[in-house]
Amino acid sequence: MKRLSQTLSKGVLIWIICSLIPIGYYLYQTNKVSQFIVEQLESQGFQFLSFVETQAHNTAARLQQSVDQLSHSSLLNQYAKNEQSTLKEYIENQWYITSFTSQLFYQLRYIDIHGNERIRVNYDLEKPFPEIVPDSELQNKSTRDYFRYATTLKPNEQGEFGIDIEYENHKPVIPYKPGLRIIVPINSDTQRFGYFVANLNVLPIIKKMTDNNQELTVDFVDRNGFYIISSNPNKLFGDLISERSQFNIPTEYPMLWKTISQHPNKKNVVLTSKGLFFYQPFVNTVFANSGPLIMISHFPAARLKQILSSRDSMILSQSVIIWLVLGLISILGSLVWNHLQVSKQSKMFAKFIMENGMAAVITNKNHDIIQCNHKFSKLFLIDPKHLMGKNLLHFITESQDLEQVIFALDTNNEWSGDLALLSPNGEQLVCQTSIQAHMDKRQKRVENYIYSFADVSNHHQVIESLTDKNHRDPMTSLWNKAKFEDILEIMARHQPTQVDNDIISNYLAIIDIDSFKTLNDTHGHRVGDEVIMYIALQLTSLLRQSDFIARIGGDEFAVIIQSESIDTVCHMMNRVRVSIASWPEYNASISIGIATISEDPIISFTHADQALYRAKRKGRNCISTHNDNISPT
Ligand code: GH3
Ligand code: MG
Repeated sequence: MKRLSQTLSKGVLIWIICSLIPIGYYLYQTNKVSQFIVEQLESQGFQFLSFVETQAHNTAARLQQSVDQLSHSSLLNQYAKNEQSTLKEYIENQWYITSFTSQLFYQLRYIDIHGNERIRVNYDLEKPFPEIVPDSELQNKSTRDYFRYATTLKPNEQGEFGIDIEYENHKPVIPYKPGLRIIVPINSDTQRFGYFVANLNVLPIIKKMTDNNQELTVDFVDRNGFYIISSNPNKLFGDLISERSQFNIPTEYPMLWKTISQHPNKKNVVLTSKGLFFYQPFVNTVFANSGPLIMISHFPAARLKQILSSRDSMILSQSVIIWLVLGLISILGSLVWNHLQVSKQSKMFAKFIMENGMAAVITNKNHDIIQCNHKFSKLFLIDPKHLMGKNLLHFITESQDLEQVIFALDTNNEWSGDLALLSPNGEQLVCQTSIQAHMDKRQKRVENYIYSFADVSNHHQVIESLTDKNHRDPMTSLWNKAKFEDILEIMARHQPTQVDNDIISNYLAIIDIDSFKTLNDTHGHRVGDEVIMYIALQLTSLLRQSDFIARIGGDEFAVIIQSESIDTVCHMMNRVRVSIASWPEYNASISIGIATISEDPIISFTHADQALYRAKRKGRNCISTHNDNISPT
């Protein structure tokens, strides 16, 4: 669990570091996309300006044509010379029709050289028809600046008195109305008679020039930054009307104005916090007699932001997807890496264990041996192939140790300490043992146990000799009844083992001295003790070192023998019986019951005891086996 959480933390850390990638991607892409969009808008903007420029030039050309036709009319020249009233009427009718059809002119006038209006046709587009102004309403314009300007014009020279506010009777027309006058002097070869003055309908002309389906504003400003033509007529005349003085480019858009001032004669783009501006110079004598104008249009910041933010949110969602995918890769990658490391480590560990100094065994989760090294088989003097499938827990002789081991493995997945071990071939050892569980891939279940052993029997024997006394019969030094019961239980767990071609089983022999009471009574207890000691001696000397011999009652002994057949056991025990029966000192004999040790130690004991009982009944001094009444004597 701890390892898993460490792995996950590593995965999250890698994820956090990897987060720089989507952040970088987002910044790079937004920057690239905004550059691209600005470039697109730039070219769109310049296309728009050139469209407006063409419209403006076309409008100016149309105006010029109308002005030429009206000012060079022979009727007007005739009238200028003689001021005949019938001619005046013709001219008035002609001007009436031209105003009405062209819708370009606000006023058409003929002014004599003294500044008196002689003919005048007004056409206010808000009214349905033009108006021929009666003589009584004609005015003297000699004091107006444009009249003074007119007097400076040479014969055949056309003058444009730039866009200006319309005045009527020396007062500006409210609401302010921009006026643009085209003035043509009327001359004979020798004499000047007056002036043809056309006041243009500037606002509709501006509307025509600036009209576009892209909802873009277009402004024409003079060299001081004041609006001469604008999509917003309320911004006009900032230089003439004090309450509109704030409407000029230097005040409204200082950054833009700075660039324009530096490069007034070329087209340019300026990106400011208020939007993307593009401008180009505009030269046209009709609209700008005071000098070239600058044509400006712009995409407002809000519109720019709207375009960019829709792209931004797309890039943001892409970045979030990249981020999530990286997260998934980081965490899965860490888990896979961890798994590879763990399996690599455990393989290395197993290899190390199997190849290095200690005796080692690998079991499955049930502790059945699946692999052991050479050292282990050497330690227990047994061929490795006879160990395969054997349960290693059954090697543990002390039931207390066994409980401890099982408990520790269940709770901690590891255990280490000294264990008294008894192999299937009867080899007894005390080993310093370490048991380590090897978990499955998900670290949830035990797959294997790895055992390692170091033989400490010699060392243990010294210690055991001190504690041994508890398990020994004080009179004979044979094992006592308690020890016998422990060993019987362990041997019951070790069921027959094949060694080479033989099946090795465990057998129990119970020995009882015949008529011992009588012997005691006849010769006394001391002799009785001597007989007991003699029998113990015969047992230890005639049986093998690996056979377990215990005194389990006053005149009762038990022997546990490993053998390939019960006949061999009978034969061995018969040697003991004969040696006692032929003892010259006293007339003593023993009866013996033999049984195979089964999985149940109590039943095994009962079987041996029943066999002993039968031996007694048969007349004593004989051997009986369980399920067998023959007594080899
Ligand atoms: P059986 O052949 O049926 O076994 O007859 P038995 O007389 O041997 O009967 P049993 O086994 O019941 O008698 C055991 C006797 O052993 C009884 C007891 O006085 C004697 N005994 C027990 N412990 C000792 C001991 O330490 N020393 C001596 N001398 N005698 C003992
Ligand atoms: Mg007896």
